[in-house]
Amino acid sequence: MSKGNTPVAKNEIIEVTIEDLTHEGAGVAKIDGYALFIPKALPGERAKVKVIKVNKGYGFGRLLEVVKKSEDRIDEPACSIFEQCGGCQLQHLSYEAQLKQKQKQVRDVLERIGKITDVVIHPTLAMSDPWRYRNKAQVPFADREGGLVAGFYQERSHEIIDMDRCLIQHEQNDHVVQVVREIATKYGIRGYDEANHRGTLRHVVARYGVNTGQLMVVLVTKSREIPHKNEVIKAIKERIPHITSIVQNVNSKRTNVIFGDETVVLSGEEYIYDTIGDVKFAISARSFYQVNPEQTKVLYDQALQYADLTGSETVIDAYCGIGTISLFLAQRAKHVYGVEIVPEAIDDAKRNAKLNHMENVDFAVGQAEKVIPWWYAQGIRADCIVVDPPRKGCDEALLETIIKMKPKRVVYVSCNPATLARDLRVLEDGGYKTLEVQPVDMFPHTTHVETVALIELK
Ligand code: SAH
Repeated sequence: MSKGNTPVAKNEIIEVTIEDLTHEGAGVAKIDGYALFIPKALPGERAKVKVIKVNKGYGFGRLLEVVKKSEDRIDEPACSIFEQCGGCQLQHLSYEAQLKQKQKQVRDVLERIGKITDVVIHPTLAMSDPWRYRNKAQVPFADREGGLVAGFYQERSHEIIDMDRCLIQHEQNDHVVQVVREIATKYGIRGYDEANHRGTLRHVVARYGVNTGQLMVVLVTKSREIPHKNEVIKAIKERIPHITSIVQNVNSKRTNVIFGDETVVLSGEEYIYDTIGDVKFAISARSFYQVNPEQTKVLYDQALQYADLTGSETVIDAYCGIGTISLFLAQRAKHVYGVEIVPEAIDDAKRNAKLNHMENVDFAVGQAEKVIPWWYAQGIRADCIVVDPPRKGCDEALLETIIKMKPKRVVYVSCNPATLARDLRVLEDGGYKTLEVQPVDMFPHTTHVETVALIELK
């Protein structure tokens, strides 16, 4: 078999040493400088691998056998469906090693993309118990020959794999989903059939306020009619007497977006509440809310500490969502301005400000990169700007405005270290210096890394 100009050929079986882990959690081996990516292989391991794809600059291999095992390998991942699910990528790596890996990932991209080397990158802040942390479950339903299935979509397919528990999901949410499945089965409610656009139940969404014990279930249905609706509601209340809210959301479109436009309260409250520290939040069926509230508190405490507020400061919170960070900051600042692009999130932010009797906050709907320059033109000056952008990072125009406005401090909360690194470079070139970077583990057993960075005007 010709190898062309790559050192390995498709279907070849080779033994390699794993040197690194990608940001997606695959092992990396180098063969004469050629990178081979091997899912489920870990750094330090010797492994027998079958080459399954050969591209020009890199290829992929399948792990056949671990010849020499990493000390950090977990032989039997806690979850029995870890291999099929794809929701977690790192259950085969010890939690200690996951934390180190996330710190290393941040250091690597800051150096490579941001050319930032002289900065303290702290060890990742861990969860004391890194399981059962999610406060929201969104589970697709369908019909199979054996009855209703509820689980997760198999990777790259529309096949639903049945699941009765998820170890990173709060037990309350798992319980709600199973109870609804049993009740729906009893009353002959059909799961949604994507191919023919038939059936009733599309998704069951469960939300739990971990600090208040309040629980919501949302039945996402194809049309308004639910067969035996009153019996179903009654049965849910009997089986879960502490449930706060039973809601229906109607999504009649052919789409893989979960929610439709119409939401109806079937029983109980429209909102559940939860708290992060001393701040209270109202959560409706469709509200955005951080999914790991315990670590959210850790992250926001760190952001607040970096903001170093005394009570006299004006602060801007860009990409503020439902105002979580804004309200956290408002406890210590003179005034906080929050800006966010989704109008419903700003409705929630305003409601939450009222709920907490906070009057020193203003929220605006719009693009941060348009609204903040406009505020600047109106003469608004911030002592501190907090940004918490989506994965693609901050818009250039926003970074330019920050550099013009010259706040003493910028606190950057990031869910993507690569765009964080890119944006820190822009700020450093504009007269700022990155002082400290703190990774926080918001999503144990997955490859996601959340980071908060402190940047000061030179
Ligand atoms: N800080 C919030 C949410 C951050 S997630 C919290 O901690 O809860 C990022 C947010 O940025 C999302 O709510 C998204 O809707 C918003 N967003 C995306 N692009 C934006 C833009 N150009 N301007 C303002 N907000 C934007």
